Amino acid sequence: MTNCRVLVLGGTGEARELASVLATLPDVSVVSSLAGRIATPRLPEGEVRVGGFGGADGLTHWLRDNAVAAVIDATHPFAARITTSAAHAAAHTHVPLLVLRRPAWVVDDADDWHVVADLGGAAVLTPTLGQRAFLTIGRQEVAAFSALEDVWFLIRAIEAPGEPLPRHRQVLLARGPFTVQGEVELLRHHRIDVVVSKNSGGPATVAKLTAARRLGVPVIMVERPPLPAGVASAGTVDEAVSWLTAHSG
Ligand code: NAP
Repeated sequence: MTNCRVLVLGGTGEARELASVLATLPDVSVVSSLAGRIATPRLPEGEVRVGGFGGADGLTHWLRDNAVAAVIDATHPFAARITTSAAHAAAHTHVPLLVLRRPAWVVDDADDWHVVADLGGAAVLTPTLGQRAFLTIGRQEVAAFSALEDVWFLIRAIEAPGEPLPRHRQVLLARGPFTVQGEVELLRHHRIDVVVSKNSGGPATVAKLTAARRLGVPVIMVERPPLPAGVASAGTVDEAVSWLTAHSG
């Protein structure tokens, strides 16, 4: 490799892991980018920039101004806007782009999953499956459930969720990883009868699904948005490093 400047779009554990691995490569310089949503983010190793780029055009300029040789989009599987921006900006600048996405969770025979396309669909389904819901969808889109008057919600997020919130609720601020035993106790303690989750994948937050399976609690699972057409993708940090090695001469 020869002096390769790589932009890692971050905000995930995989992005931090990737930045650490790339920092050990002699001819690679990495800049990690965070959206700036979380006041106290876990920072990746090395150079970090924070804040939006100003859409696809802004990112296009940023790639040119900073002589970026490759982009690895290691954002969360549900961060669809930045992934779309990255695809456009990479196409305009002819900078190679890889999307690093951890594999989705897969349903088990013992699970009772109800798969929906989006959070609106999850909100419609929730009162048909339970009265005490565990909402583990992050903090940004809780408003989709705000009109549900007949359901009590345990809302877990890293930082306080945005308004409007459902009327009957308790907010629990916590950051994973979570254990199966802890999740079983949480579901039991709050008498949860339905879990709402995005199919984020990964080990840090999978314990809630194991707990739901053990307790026979149904799960409303929101599917991931599709990747932009024609974009290369990888499932692991090792694959991403191999891709970079192949694309940086
Ligand atoms: P999003 O809807 O795709 O992004 C919204 C806007 O935020 C983007 O258009 C972009 O602004 C900016 N942005 C997003 N990620 C960025 C990054 N890594 N660096 C610089 N700007 C970024 O994403 P989101 O769902 O709001 O998620 C925001 C961040 O939180 C992502 O980095 C993601 O990895 C992380 N995250 C998201 C979730 C989730 O469930 N969505 C969960 C865990 C972590 P401009 O258009 O101005 O460039």
